[in-house]
Amino acid sequence: MINHLITQKNWQTQLSEAVSSIDELLAILQLESLRAQVYVPTHFKLRVPRAFVAKMSVGDANDPLLKQVLPDQREQQAVTGYVTDPLGESDHNPSRGLLHKYQSRVLLTITGACAIHCRYCFRQHFDYNANMPNSGTQVATKAYISTHPEIDEVILSGGDPLSVSNRRLFAWLDALEAIPQLTTIRLHTRLPIVIPERLDNELLDRLAQSRCRIVMVVHCNHANEIDTLTAQALQRANNAGITMLNQTVLLKDINDSVELQVALSQRLFSAGVLPYYLHVLDKVDGGAHFDLSEQLAIELYWALLKQLPGYLVPKLVRELTSRPFKVPIDIYKVS
Ligand code: SF4
Repeated sequence: MINHLITQKNWQTQLSEAVSSIDELLAILQLESLRAQVYVPTHFKLRVPRAFVAKMSVGDANDPLLKQVLPDQREQQAVTGYVTDPLGESDHNPSRGLLHKYQSRVLLTITGACAIHCRYCFRQHFDYNANMPNSGTQVATKAYISTHPEIDEVILSGGDPLSVSNRRLFAWLDALEAIPQLTTIRLHTRLPIVIPERLDNELLDRLAQSRCRIVMVVHCNHANEIDTLTAQALQRANNAGITMLNQTVLLKDINDSVELQVALSQRLFSAGVLPYYLHVLDKVDGGAHFDLSEQLAIELYWALLKQLPGYLVPKLVRELTSRPFKVPIDIYKVS
């Protein structure tokens, strides 16, 4: 681990100082020899906060955190079945920034920005420009939700909804809390994992005061992503009364072993976070080299069921464009 890179800078400074040069990243990690295997993307470029780089091992080309962010030449190969919109989200986009696929929940994109660019991301080709909120978005969102009484939960997503300032985020919370039918606001975010300072007191105080139940679903794939500082930040959120859950993507050669998944669940639990979903990869263009067969996923899952108490076993799911919910994978296909 590169302790000298760990900073005490505020989260916005850390965001702006994220590593965006492949040469710099490889130099920090003393892995210049990898240069021939990587490429410089023209969109969805390298982006990784220094606090996350600090959790990587110097000289380890197989570091599981590095593999999640380093643009690999294999991304450029078209693979049959891997597409730019694997979840068919463009078919469920009733108004700017709003996705309504699940019956009682809507997903609201409040920013296209992320603190980190995960190379397997299913939204890496998403048209954020067409979905950026503008001055009319709050009104249109309220109007849409009001005419759909079945909606009781809004999921703030992105990009990463915590990459916007507290001022902007609180304006959204104010607007949503003013819609009487809403009971729950959920935040899907990777920021607390990659820049734990993002869970600052101002944010946690505001979330604790919400009239809605607040659920925060963080995104963490490997136990190495949770160092002491990150664990403390997650625990503070838990102490503030926020329901803390985690979703993980099952990634080939990164977290595809029983030992790694057990370690992740245990580390999350010790930080006050419960494992929620273990996703098999959404078949996104450029992400095929992260995928592994459903059979291997199921075998791994059976081993998890044996080793962990039920509350530490996430649900093994995949998204299907044809289904308005995450589809549990039939583990009895392989037993
Ligand atoms: S933080 Fe989430 S939305 Fe952003 S690139 Fe990573 S997986 Fe995609």
